[in-house]
Amino acid sequence: MTFQDFNFKANLQKSIDDAGFKEPSPIQKDAIPVVLSGKDMVGQAQTGTGKTAAFGLPMINMMKGGSGVEAVVIVPTRELAMQVSDELFRFGKNSGMYTATVYGGQSYNMQLRNIERASIIVATPGRLIDLLKGKKIDIKPSFVVLDEADEMLDMVFLDDIKEIFTFLPKERQTLLFSATMPPAIKKLAQNILKEPEFITVTKSEMTNSKITQSFYVVDEYERDDALIRLYDFKSPDKSIIFCRTKKEVDRLSTFLVSKGHMAKGLHGDMEQRQREEVIRSFKKGALDVLIATDVAARGLDVNDVSHVFNYHLPFDSESYVHRIGRTGRAGKEGVAISIVTPHEFRMIQKIQHVTGGKMEAKVIPNIDSVKEKKTSSLKSKISEQKVFDSGIAIVESLKEEFDLSTIAFKLASILSDSTFVKGNNYIGKSEIDIKKLFERLKDDKGGDSRGRGRGGYRGGNRNGGGGNRNRSGGGGNRNRSGGGGRRRD
Ligand code: ADP
Ligand code: MG
Repeated sequence: MTFQDFNFKANLQKSIDDAGFKEPSPIQKDAIPVVLSGKDMVGQAQTGTGKTAAFGLPMINMMKGGSGVEAVVIVPTRELAMQVSDELFRFGKNSGMYTATVYGGQSYNMQLRNIERASIIVATPGRLIDLLKGKKIDIKPSFVVLDEADEMLDMVFLDDIKEIFTFLPKERQTLLFSATMPPAIKKLAQNILKEPEFITVTKSEMTNSKITQSFYVVDEYERDDALIRLYDFKSPDKSIIFCRTKKEVDRLSTFLVSKGHMAKGLHGDMEQRQREEVIRSFKKGALDVLIATDVAARGLDVNDVSHVFNYHLPFDSESYVHRIGRTGRAGKEGVAISIVTPHEFRMIQKIQHVTGGKMEAKVIPNIDSVKEKKTSSLKSKISEQKVFDSGIAIVESLKEEFDLSTIAFKLASILSDSTFVKGNNYIGKSEIDIKKLFERLKDDKGGDSRGRGRGGYRGGNRNGGGGNRNRSGGGGNRNRSGGGGRRRD
């Protein structure tokens, strides 16, 4: 199936071609015909699956153009407002449909001027309700979209949303999109939608199957070491590390910078301008890693995030789904890695249950395997390196003092410095430890696993490098470095 099959107007099809979209995503395939038929709709699909186009394209196709606001899209945060607005602008510009972005913290006058020429408003609930209540705008949209509805739940937005609808015409088409479908959202949908059609992509599609999910089990005091080791081992091009608190974000970004990484924090206490600046430099590649809280990274659409790390698991499965949805976007592969303690085993199971995705238990690579990986990438870098005149000049001048192989050994020694791996040889639980933890959990049958899960698993891994090969009491080194721990349940 291609986008041509929807028989969109020529100007809209041109925008789709310009955007480089060829095949509609699953939610787009299902939702677009429903929206075109004029029905209200509830659409559930994991983030990064193209929900914006799922409502934006059919809506723009049906809009008349000319003066007046025809569509209002309500989104939870400023960042999302800008992002959705950009995407809709791309789709609408060839048809002369402009978007106005409306959110708090910006001058009313500018936004009101933009609204005057706009066909589509993309707004956060707070500012929109201000404008409506203050009678600053009088709009009669034919389309109303609630995007990322579940993200508005914990943000005291629900009342604002309900109030917004008292200002909107009864004759309208209403669409609600959400990555998850908690009861409060279902109820909201009942209240504001008319006989909606429900479209849900199947569970296996809910967590994007292009995302490989795994978790590593550590004791609480090992989290930092585990993070750095995994980061070193994976050496991601672009990644996001999720934390639970702002304090943790600040501490970890300082820590990563001190380890020589291009890292910056992103959290709700930062000024809007600061946040935008951080996101911009992350997008353009000036930063390799973003350390963020859930709220700050909501809906963030950066296409080439290769890895998401959960320094801590989030408190609920919905946030987990949102976090890992920052990678594997636009059809790319993604990796989601969680660092957990034995206490958090139940949460892992709950997440798997809710998302239908599989999280694989793995063992943190030891120093040798990280070194091995670094050395092999160093070797391929050397093989691929072009020879520069400046390089030749250095070797020529050294040749007076040393023979060529001595020079080569010295150069390689300088480079091999970069393969140095710090920390304890073994970090976290071995394959056998993890197996035992799973067995305990099974035996526990709902009881409190904490007390029992804790003792006796501390291994001797605080005392530095080698020496404790057999700490897991079984397979020794082989099990440890293979990273091939298997999940059982
Ligand atoms: P969601 O709202 O579900 O999180 P978005 O609408 O933000 O997802 O889309 C995620 C990314 O995928 C965006 O960069 C978007 O441009 C891109 N995208 C959406 N649909 C398609 C498609 N059919 N083909 C290629 N890229 C797409
Ligand atoms: Mg979206």
